[in-house]
Amino acid sequence: MNMSSGETSTPPEPNPTAETADRLVRALDELAAGLAELEDAATAYQAEYRAALPPTTDALPTYREQVVLEREQLAEAARIIRDRLPVAALTPRGLRWRVPQIPDYILLQARIAGPEDRDYFTTLDANSLRHDDDKKAAPIGPRCGRANNCKSARVYIGSGFTAPSCYRHLDDEEAKAVHKVYDATGRSTVCLGCRAEPGYSCVTNDSRQLVPVNGEWPTLRQFRGISVHTVRLDTFSRS
Ligand SMILES: [Zn+2]
Ligand SMILES: [Zn+2]
Repeated sequence: MNMSSGETSTPPEPNPTAETADRLVRALDELAAGLAELEDAATAYQAEYRAALPPTTDALPTYREQVVLEREQLAEAARIIRDRLPVAALTPRGLRWRVPQIPDYILLQARIAGPEDRDYFTTLDANSLRHDDDKKAAPIGPRCGRANNCKSARVYIGSGFTAPSCYRHLDDEEAKAVHKVYDATGRSTVCLGCRAEPGYSCVTNDSRQLVPVNGEWPTLRQFRGISVHTVRLDTFSRS
């Protein structure tokens, strides 16, 4: 009320408790146990009754592995946040993340943190205050360099890595290797950017299905007829 002009209120220092994260981890444990029981019960029912399961019951057991994995990631990410361990301010592609992160990405950013990186809260606050100009300054990635110093970008293969050249200048062996990465990515991972399930191509014609990941809209990459979002390549390269 009596604030003089120019004075700003400092938000309270965040102080997350272990109890809050533990409660969520426990709930995921119970969910995983429930899904295991569901799987057992469903198998018995199918055998005894020679009947198929209703759609939701049928789909749920496949979530168990994902729930168990996410539980592990969540517990670890919560510890990184609580213990103020450093997380990298830039993603492996050199972009600044600006929105609250999922555990998987917090673990990655912690793994690639350098000596100058700070804790999660400090980095989140600092990153969200930065304007978009440093996005333009972010490295566009290495250039091909083959055939009279070709200036095209090298083919992206995930987690900030690229193939040895652009798509036109890969030799047969290299092209085969890149094709394998794109093919396996589409067959075995879920796309966080467009929610395409394993075995399905990334959504290319309906932008309403896209969701930002780490504050960035998904970018599409194509190689020999396979279309996948960069974030899906990132997921695959870390699996
Ligand atoms: Zn080239
Ligand atoms: Zn996608």
